Amino acid sequence: MRLAVFDEGRIGVVLEDSVADISALVPRWVEGDLHAMTRLIGAWDSLRGPIERAVKTSPRKALKDLVLRAPQPAPMQLLAAPSNYRAHVDEMMHRVGTGLGNPTKTANELGFFMKANGSISGPQDPIALPLKTLPGRLFEHEGEIAFVIGKHAKGVSPEDAVSHIFGYTIMVDATLRATEEIAEERVQRKSFASFSPMGPFITTADEIGDWRDISVQLWLNGEQRQDAKARDMIVDIPNLLSRASHVMPLFPGDVYTTGSPPGVGKITVGDTVIVESRGIGRMTLKVTERDW
Ligand code: MN
Repeated sequence: MRLAVFDEGRIGVVLEDSVADISALVPRWVEGDLHAMTRLIGAWDSLRGPIERAVKTSPRKALKDLVLRAPQPAPMQLLAAPSNYRAHVDEMMHRVGTGLGNPTKTANELGFFMKANGSISGPQDPIALPLKTLPGRLFEHEGEIAFVIGKHAKGVSPEDAVSHIFGYTIMVDATLRATEEIAEERVQRKSFASFSPMGPFITTADEIGDWRDISVQLWLNGEQRQDAKARDMIVDIPNLLSRASHVMPLFPGDVYTTGSPPGVGKITVGDTVIVESRGIGRMTLKVTERDW
């Protein structure tokens, strides 16, 4: 199943070119509710059957007529992996002053960082660069595969990890690069409003099949820049989940973006970023200057 959030926070099941509105089945759903997807995921085991039945009869709305929102606008936690593909670590090593790509780091030493939830934006929203406060700085795209937690996970083994995943989506981990002179905290550099586009949908884990086959491709102004599969990660999805769950509990609806493949590059006002994953969907994101 592919799930969308649209218009005033409504929740729908995506069926080719249309969406079946299932908001009425989400416990205590109200217009503008940012936490509806979290409750839906938390109650998925009991809601799945009724949703599948409702989809057959509920009214459809054409996808093209909807405003798509981030499919999980308010996770309790938004985790992110640093450089998680060997070729990306190498690429960062060859750039001075990025503060990334420590060659002595082994897979066992790679941890996670957090992105602020306030940076989450939808699949039709622009990436708005904060040029008024940060003129002349370098901003980059990182197209990434993200997974969504389905079941409370505390101290789970890598072997049990995948059973705690609800589904998968795509994120762009937009980034203000540090310089040698100015090295803001990573969390801050990656948490500007609109720096975490997510979507267009969440595809449930059963529909994805083997997580190793999940791919992500990114095009900048029509030119392909990134192309990777989950199987090529340094720390794979089960280990990312397991390791984080040994730090703190992970909650239904939490999102973990798994790190960028090689090919990151500069984004400037006027650019168009397209990011796609087969089985999940495609986002077309304009790069603008934000007006505040
Ligand atoms: Mn990243």
